[in-house]
Amino acid sequence: MNELEYKIHIDKIIERIEAARIKVSEHHIVKVVAVSKYNTAEDITKLYSIGQRAFGENRVQDLVAKQDALEELPLEWHYIGNLQRNKLNALIKAEPFLFQSLDSKELANALQRRLHDKETTMDCLLQINSAKEETKSGVYPEDAIELFSYIREHCPNINLKGVMSIGAHTDAQAVVKESFETTFKIYEQLDNVSICSMGMSGDFELAIECGSNMIRLGSVMFPKEL
Ligand SMILES: *Cc1c(COP(=O)(O)O)cnc(C)c1O
Repeated sequence: MNELEYKIHIDKIIERIEAARIKVSEHHIVKVVAVSKYNTAEDITKLYSIGQRAFGENRVQDLVAKQDALEELPLEWHYIGNLQRNKLNALIKAEPFLFQSLDSKELANALQRRLHDKETTMDCLLQINSAKEETKSGVYPEDAIELFSYIREHCPNINLKGVMSIGAHTDAQAVVKESFETTFKIYEQLDNVSICSMGMSGDFELAIECGSNMIRLGSVMFPKEL
């Protein structure tokens, strides 16, 4: 794919996002985070040249390596993966724009301690395991509001901006939709939040129609023949 072909490809995705967003409201704004976890710094540069600024990684080592390789570019880095406790300091040092996968009380407490020691703060989303899948991390829907309130109350260095969820892993659209609706209902009940991050390459239109205002797109943003 040359640059023009790549631009046309991305334009088509933006049109699909537009069509879904307009169904919600003309005023509904959706932010795209390009998930670059399977891509190189060079791939990121190509997408940057056609206008993309926000990128997401799911391993701290990769995040740091790509930040270093691309430090000249004004990029916004999101962390979207599971976080092992021994990577907490490295993540804090990397200063992500948004840590989207805060998924337990234990992790919140550990993060709070480290942030407090380093006299800094971090913007985070609470990850919700909306379809209660064993293979996924995240708080169960019935525990989400309580954990959210706990973090707000006990973790002053964590700025909770909203929620993140991965749609149910199935081809049954109704089940995926239900998982998005579950997350959105929780989002609606929270005070002072602005981000509902849900929707990936295979289900972003449905996620937007269910209220998502941040989508995390990997494979569609980085086609194989790049
Ligand atoms: C990999 C990943 C994505 C992007 O997945 P695609 O299906 O390639 O769009 C989004 N969110 C999370 C948490 C991921 O790990």
